[in-house]
Amino acid sequence: MNVSLVLFTSDLRLHDHPPLRAAGDGSRQVVPLFVRDRAVDAAGFAAPNRLAFLADCLRDLDEGLRARGGRLVVRYGDVVDEVCRVAAEAGADEVHMAADVSVHAHRREARLRRALEAEGCRLHVHDTVTTAVAPGALTPAGSDHFAVFTPYFRRWSQQPLRDALAAPRTVRVPDGVGSERLPSRAGIAGVSEGLAAGGETEGRKRLTAWLRSGVAHYEDRHDDLAGDATSRLSPHLHFGTLSPVELVHRARAAGGPGAEAFVRQLAWRDFHRQVLAVRQDAAVSDYRTRHDRWRSGRAAEEDVEAWREGRTGYPVVDAGMRQLRHEGWMHNRARLLTASFLTKTLYVDWRVGARHFLDLLVDGDVANNQLNWQWMAGTGTDSRPNRVLNPLTQARRYDPEGEYVRRWVPELAEVDGPAVHEPWKLPGLDRAAVDYPDPIVELSDGLARFRRGRGLER
Ligand code: FAD
Repeated sequence: MNVSLVLFTSDLRLHDHPPLRAAGDGSRQVVPLFVRDRAVDAAGFAAPNRLAFLADCLRDLDEGLRARGGRLVVRYGDVVDEVCRVAAEAGADEVHMAADVSVHAHRREARLRRALEAEGCRLHVHDTVTTAVAPGALTPAGSDHFAVFTPYFRRWSQQPLRDALAAPRTVRVPDGVGSERLPSRAGIAGVSEGLAAGGETEGRKRLTAWLRSGVAHYEDRHDDLAGDATSRLSPHLHFGTLSPVELVHRARAAGGPGAEAFVRQLAWRDFHRQVLAVRQDAAVSDYRTRHDRWRSGRAAEEDVEAWREGRTGYPVVDAGMRQLRHEGWMHNRARLLTASFLTKTLYVDWRVGARHFLDLLVDGDVANNQLNWQWMAGTGTDSRPNRVLNPLTQARRYDPEGEYVRRWVPELAEVDGPAVHEPWKLPGLDRAAVDYPDPIVELSDGLARFRRGRGLER
């Protein structure tokens, strides 16, 4: 066999890349292709923060390939048309790509398979590229997926993982295959000021630093809002600049309770993927309906706007929402409490919040975002669907000195200590001088409204 094509999607790396390895082993030449899929734009999924991070990733991938004698071919358009076109131009008789779980990914794979077969070209789809354990590899008796994390994790932990693969030494790309120009971050409007840099090189640096000095403290400090002591590897996992299989191996090798707790979080990622793979409607519909009668209308819209802008009057909620806007990323604890605030305290449909997160999150991911929103809304896999996180209790516990709030809500920067969490109680605060709103809802009223709406109380 002479030429294979590797279609890169959410796996923008050279290390531990089974499709690239298979293509290189079986062929003399390889075409590494990335298609900026028009359908992603049409679905409203091409958010500026992710496009900017993607531009970094493609540039880095291209540099990595060039260092090995190759280059990245980039096209824009319909992914199936472009793959077929490039395969024909290069005379490729095989296409390799990673398996993925969204509706979009499933449709893409089915359409590609049909179109390539018609051209006499074979499609090979590789598991364990975007997950450590393949969705569907583990199932409980009598079901096609695990609906509860703990038994899933037990099985996941016992599942042997394949070895991580080295990056190829050389990649030979055939001449004459045209590429569009690589996108650049500079041309993208609306990017968050504090957005992290993308790319495999950056991801590997971050991972090494994390394993050297971060992971050991993860178990104790992952919920510390101000400490910011999580890995921040989520965008790299989303774009596949890091391999989940390699991450699990390296974290296990680092050892200790911190690494164990970190590996458990990686299993959550696989857990949500194995749910979405067979319950694709969970991206848009309740996984388990609670027959909610979510609020709508003018007052609800005003509440949502205040939540989006970080002006609810609850400083810890507002701090999270402002971090999201500024960095395109938010601490997990803040994601939990801002999502609880929207779906429970304001009793607004989880889809409204999930959409806003997807518009801004650099790691915005259908499986993780929609299913975590459903978890918090109580329509997902949580066994305690009606729990409500009280933002004041959360603030006192996870931001005891108020540092996180002062960092993100500059209006309150002068307020010392934990008093910053309840500015309405501050006798000395000059309300006229401080442009910070009163709470948009009393917590007890919000709770009562949620309980009525969900039919828990009359
Ligand atoms: P770490 O704590 O260092 O964890 C390591 C990795 O484990 C993460 O990078 C992530 O890949 C995985 N992980 C951690 N927590 C979870 C979790 N609860 N579910 C699934 N995987 C997890 N994560 C996304 O990657 N994309 C999203 O769009 C997303 N949306 C979310 C929305 C809500 C409402 C909530 C509550 C959580 C969401 N998460 C999402 C999960 C989690 O908040 C982020 O993965 C995490 O904050 C990323 O930071 P980190 O890389 O420092 O995480």
